[in-house]
Amino acid sequence: MKANIKELAREELESWLSLRREPRYRAEQIQRWLFQRRAVAFAEMSDLSAALRGALGESFTISRLDTLRRNDSRDGTVKFLLGLSDGLGIESVLIPEPRRLTLCISTQAGCGLGCAFCATALLGLKRNLRSSEIVDQVLEAARTLPAEQRITHVVLMGMGEPLANYAETLKALNVLTDAKSGVGISPRRVTLSTVGLVPQIKRLIDETRVNLAISLHATTDEARSKLMPINRKYSLAELIECCRALPIPKRRRITFEYVLLRGVNDTAEDARRLSRLLRGIRSKINLIPFNPHPGSRFERPAQEEVEAFQNWLHAEGYQINVRRPRGDDIQAACGQLQAMSSEIVSSEQMERRGTPHAGACPERKSKGLTPYA
Ligand code: SAH
Repeated sequence: MKANIKELAREELESWLSLRREPRYRAEQIQRWLFQRRAVAFAEMSDLSAALRGALGESFTISRLDTLRRNDSRDGTVKFLLGLSDGLGIESVLIPEPRRLTLCISTQAGCGLGCAFCATALLGLKRNLRSSEIVDQVLEAARTLPAEQRITHVVLMGMGEPLANYAETLKALNVLTDAKSGVGISPRRVTLSTVGLVPQIKRLIDETRVNLAISLHATTDEARSKLMPINRKYSLAELIECCRALPIPKRRRITFEYVLLRGVNDTAEDARRLSRLLRGIRSKINLIPFNPHPGSRFERPAQEEVEAFQNWLHAEGYQINVRRPRGDDIQAACGQLQAMSSEIVSSEQMERRGTPHAGACPERKSKGLTPYA
């Protein structure tokens, strides 16, 4: 089996090249073709000799993700359903804003953390993504853009828990933020969101310069453990203590995400406790009014209730944003990602390749997990 060349670190590519008596700098050249010019074939790499292109083709493949569907929201948000080589599906969401273009990417197929309000949790964990599968989401989305447009920001807030797939996520972050021969997005413009895996948070801050977002969502252990089972492993006190002690660079802040669930975590008392918890941490708060999805049992608070919660925290001096539900008409907003079950994704792949497949019939589809029906 040939290896996927995007999985090789620069040093690994360099040693492969040196075995063939090629200069080391070619590794950088090849990686620029892969990650900056988004080459899909070695034949495109016109500044390499024909012999080297041939040798590369004999040893390696260049991965791609199969764009199975693209849904365009009224507000300009685009959701991509991407097929992995083993038939599983993942989603990425492209979010245009006035002066930025953000891509929200997945780090796992499904998720095993079981947060009570999240659509992805209903899938369970299918598997971790490889680093190339994380990076390829950015490359595939970039391919759909007109020449003058660029993805300016990347958020690891799609399907899955990035820190539960630490090694591959770190590799992907290195490629995404490497200006020399990687995709070249500044780490200041990359944000990783986590449920709060304490040891991995510390490692992440040691090993990268990306921004950190913590999914907090509740202010007592009792409430948080009900919403987020991970809280039984890393308590609120432990999580907040970890955040307080992180060597966050000056001028940077930790983002705390707080999904507002009507009647569950949206009272004045919650706001007061939240304010007390975060006191002294350089932070900003992202309020996310709950986005409903098929199978959810929570409600979004009314606009006035959201504003009241925001005002309480504002009065305490916190920087606070309310996240607008982008792309909610196509189930692309926070917590709504739920790529179709693998069976259905495979049938779509078959269909596109012109192979008839029993799974492709509409009755079958409507029984699946598809939010697209
Ligand atoms: N596993 C990581 C990455 C997912 S990020 C994490 O949990 O942080 C997605 C963000 O959307 C998280 O803050 C998550 O808690 C939040 N979210 C999940 N379901 C939601 C829903 N139905 N409505 C609003 N936000 C939701």
